[in-house]
Amino acid sequence: MQTEIEVRADDWLINAGLVGFLNIVGKENVRIDGQTIYFTADLLEDFETKYFNFFIKEYKETLSWSKIVSYKDTMERFRAEDFASFDEEALDNLNKYVKDVVKFYLKKANYIKVFSLIDSKADVNKWLENLNTINLTKKQKWEDVKADIIEKVKQNYTQLDAIIDFCASDKGLQYLAAKNLIYSVINKGWSGISFLLKQTKIMDPYLDYKTSFVDPIIEYLDTDLSKAKYNCFSCNQPIKNLKLDLSFMNEVGFDTARKTAHVWDFNNDVATCPICRLIYSCVPAGFTYVYGEGMFINDSYGVDELHRVNERMRNSILRFNKDGINSTNTYRALVESITMEHENNRRYELADIQLVRYENEHYRFNLLSKKMLDIVNDSRGILKSLIRCGYKEGNLNINLYKEVIQHLMNNENLFTLIHKLIYYKQTNVNGLYYNMGHVSGILDINTKFLKEMEVMTNISQKQLWFVQNCGAEFKEGYVTKKSENKISGITYKLLNSLKVNDKDGFMDTLLNSYSYLAKPIPNVFMNVFTNDEAFKSVGYAFMLGVGGEKTKKEDGGNTDEK
Ligand SMILES: [Zn+2]
Repeated sequence: MQTEIEVRADDWLINAGLVGFLNIVGKENVRIDGQTIYFTADLLEDFETKYFNFFIKEYKETLSWSKIVSYKDTMERFRAEDFASFDEEALDNLNKYVKDVVKFYLKKANYIKVFSLIDSKADVNKWLENLNTINLTKKQKWEDVKADIIEKVKQNYTQLDAIIDFCASDKGLQYLAAKNLIYSVINKGWSGISFLLKQTKIMDPYLDYKTSFVDPIIEYLDTDLSKAKYNCFSCNQPIKNLKLDLSFMNEVGFDTARKTAHVWDFNNDVATCPICRLIYSCVPAGFTYVYGEGMFINDSYGVDELHRVNERMRNSILRFNKDGINSTNTYRALVESITMEHENNRRYELADIQLVRYENEHYRFNLLSKKMLDIVNDSRGILKSLIRCGYKEGNLNINLYKEVIQHLMNNENLFTLIHKLIYYKQTNVNGLYYNMGHVSGILDINTKFLKEMEVMTNISQKQLWFVQNCGAEFKEGYVTKKSENKISGITYKLLNSLKVNDKDGFMDTLLNSYSYLAKPIPNVFMNVFTNDEAFKSVGYAFMLGVGGEKTKKEDGGNTDEK
């Protein structure tokens, strides 16, 4: 019986690799026990194909390969009806396809390199040469020249048949997709070696991967390590030399070639065994990438949960992408996947979760605290109502859902956002897709946040709702006295005082106004200002009441951000 290979979960990087590895080989083909996975070497047979197949399955629809082969349907449609409905628009589309898709992609050096691996006899260049855009001169009328044009289109179709068949073949998909994925997904995790080494001598990326990552493991397993002097940086198993380092991993600070000065005395220790190295090469399969940004939830509870929570996020993202609300998708997916986990077994009572994002070629880290997760979980209803809400700032569309989640992730209160939202509403700025009910919901979330942070303990949610009601009555008072025109001036003063934290100024304005209305000022204002957070919470609750559109407390469901 073969000995089992063992890999343990540890820091976020190896964990992302482990999740990627499980995605590639299938969870059911390894033994998982707590923080450790076990498998035998036969699982590594043809691993290079499994490696690329995972990425192809996951990202197929986004590949340029799909753009090339999907035109076949159009061609078949026109052929079936003998080009009866082929018009100028169809010609225009064909020309664009020829120029911007077929010739654009198939003339790229990276693709050309694998043509001979797909079919050594195929002369792609010749097909491309015989493929031409078809243009009408200014004087020509479509009806007069249609018959000639269709003849030329048919000639183009002949070339396209050959090209599409070439690309759509098993090997066409295998190699063109691999080449595409190397530079669109895999290079977000690592670079500089194997098929990502510019000067690589191996044309076949599959073979290149096998040579760099799989073969060394087989060799390693056959090596007598009893006299090995070193240990793997990651798993602590003995290794013979320090040849394999982590400098191929993007942006993780182990670039021994370039950053020696920064990690002096340290770089010599950062060598790994071939097994860990293969796991690290799976990092891009552990992250979920959307529009070039990657996300990984590092939940260190156990490998099984680690894999599940990331799989759930991946599925949510795919589902949301089909709905077509793009800018919030990753955040929604994140929130759904972790709150669902939260609900299922309530085990986030135990630990904080690390969220790793890959954005603009850098890793960013957030610690999702138990407190933050509780707030998000308790606020699911409000959050859901914010998904389609937002406002415009210059040319930027700011989405409220994303804003709120980002603030919470960064442990920031929401006062600045609340202020802005009330202020914009009061001054009738263009491009606002929310109502005061949404802002009121955000204030509720903020109150939960302040309580979790233990900076506001003496004000209850109920009191704030009461204050909001006071604000509405205050406004009614002015309406009754036929002095609505005064409200905007008062609002302006009150908002300003809140912004600069001027409690006295706020109280002055309020006292004057209440005496004008000949009403007593609500008690809550007299005794709550023990700290800034309490002051602001009460103040903004009041402003929401004053600015509220009484009838619209429900969500603004159809005011989608554009
Ligand atoms: Zn190792």
